[in-house]
Amino acid sequence: MDELKMINNGSGASVSGADLETFKSNFRGRLVIPGDADYDEVRTLWNGMHDKKPGIIARCTGVADVMASVNFARDHQILLAVRGGGHNVGGSASCDGGIMIDLSLMKGVWVDPNTRTARAQGGATWGDVDRETQVFGLATPGGVVSTTGIAGLTLGGGLGWLRRKHGLTIDNLISVDIVTADGQFHTANSMHNADLFWAVRGGGGNFGIVTSFEYQLHPVGPMVTLCAPWYPAEEADAILPVWNEFMKTAPEELSSTAMFWTVPAAPGFPAEAHGKRALIIAAVHSGSLEDGARIIQPLRELGKPMLDLSGPIPWTALQSAFDGFFPKKQQLYYFKSRNLRQLDQQTIQAIIPQACKPPAPMILIAIWNYGGAMARVGEQETAFTGRQVPILFGVDAVWADPGQTEEVLAYSRNFLSSLEPYSTGGMYVNFSGLGEEGETLVKSAYGNNYERLVSVKNKYDPHNLFRLNQNIKPTV
Ligand SMILES: Cc1cc2nc3c(=O)[nH]c(=O)nc-3n(C[C@H](O)[C@H](O)[C@H](O)COP(=O)(O)OP(=O)(O)OC[C@H]3O[C@@H](n4cnc5c(N)ncnc54)[C@H](O)[C@@H]3O)c2cc1C
Repeated sequence: MDELKMINNGSGASVSGADLETFKSNFRGRLVIPGDADYDEVRTLWNGMHDKKPGIIARCTGVADVMASVNFARDHQILLAVRGGGHNVGGSASCDGGIMIDLSLMKGVWVDPNTRTARAQGGATWGDVDRETQVFGLATPGGVVSTTGIAGLTLGGGLGWLRRKHGLTIDNLISVDIVTADGQFHTANSMHNADLFWAVRGGGGNFGIVTSFEYQLHPVGPMVTLCAPWYPAEEADAILPVWNEFMKTAPEELSSTAMFWTVPAAPGFPAEAHGKRALIIAAVHSGSLEDGARIIQPLRELGKPMLDLSGPIPWTALQSAFDGFFPKKQQLYYFKSRNLRQLDQQTIQAIIPQACKPPAPMILIAIWNYGGAMARVGEQETAFTGRQVPILFGVDAVWADPGQTEEVLAYSRNFLSSLEPYSTGGMYVNFSGLGEEGETLVKSAYGNNYERLVSVKNKYDPHNLFRLNQNIKPTV
């Protein structure tokens, strides 16, 4: 191989052809470099906002490849990015001129139906996990789009349709296998490397590369009950307070997110509703279908829906129902969030006018109801913070025209700023936009857990090899 110019934390560095050959000989997967026929395809991230060009993409096939890649990057001081599913809207899974350690070929999932556990490799998606676990009528809380990587989602916390019944994804994490900055392999669980296990449950990719995750599974499905009436958005001021009160006493089998969205001009949506702004009272009941139908009924009668997609649905179909609206590369994404103290009248009145008039129709405004199992875990038990708030507010901006980017970003940022008086100041790290606030964002997201995260970072990654993430800076 020829010599490669690489990026070393902002300055140029070169890696000799001989060193590249040594790396290659110790690597079982493929090293993809600029000029290779599939380079552009392999480097593509989900968010069309990013067009990063790594100097090398290390397509790992197992733990040994991950160790070799970490050692190579560290020894040559090369900027290092890690890709699981590539979904992170901030584009942290890649970098210009450095190495992208790509786990997307490592998608194996093994289920043990007797212990109701599953082990999944770090490049798997939620679609991969749901497919294997549902064979046994089991599931673990994941995200709501099946193409999302389990790695980034789990390491940030993991919010999905089972959060009130079974908690966050990290609340169902039993152990991780992880390669740290020194190239060493560890298993971290509540008994071994407990500090590391605490930190990876919310602290993101700061501590090493997780090669596999072990999850607790629960009986779910195969059919669950979807609640999805689409009300005219203008009726939101009457509907949102009732929904908010309803969820305070709803059974934990029900998890719900109220969403402002625009009726897509797509099959399955009545033509007369196309393009209209709607408030979707979305909820999923994971218990019996009889209970589900009865429990969601009041949410279907909060007004006169334009359409109602409620009914029994296979768990795997539910988990992939949104996929088509979030395609890879073809659209631009900017997801950002704030924890809200409550959803009182003032907060609702601050939300509605902006939620009803987005600059691009597919901008989704999500009001995640928290509570239940996820709120019973203590704030210091895992690195994830903000469990006790009742609501996570999110602007999930989706647009297709790059010429609209400035307008959409300004709308999203202004919207969130306008909610500061109603916010605790916290947020969800997996919905943190482009991470543009840097250290301020990370400190406000982790609050009282920040200093403990710094001490774990100091121990496992004192030179900040894993820095392309919501970065916890070491202090040694
Ligand atoms: C369409 C869409 C839907 C979403 N829905 C949800 C949802 O329902 N619930 C929710 O909680 N979040 C959701 N998210 C946010 C999601 O959790 C984050 O984007 C997350 O980072 C995605 O994980 P990934 O592996 O695909 O990310 P990647 O972009 O591959 O990685 C993101 C970061 O995670 C770290 N990382 C990745 N893989 C590893 C690894 N194996 N070991 C160590 N670090 C690693 C790295 O720091 C990397 O920069 C959604 C995002 C999108 C775009």
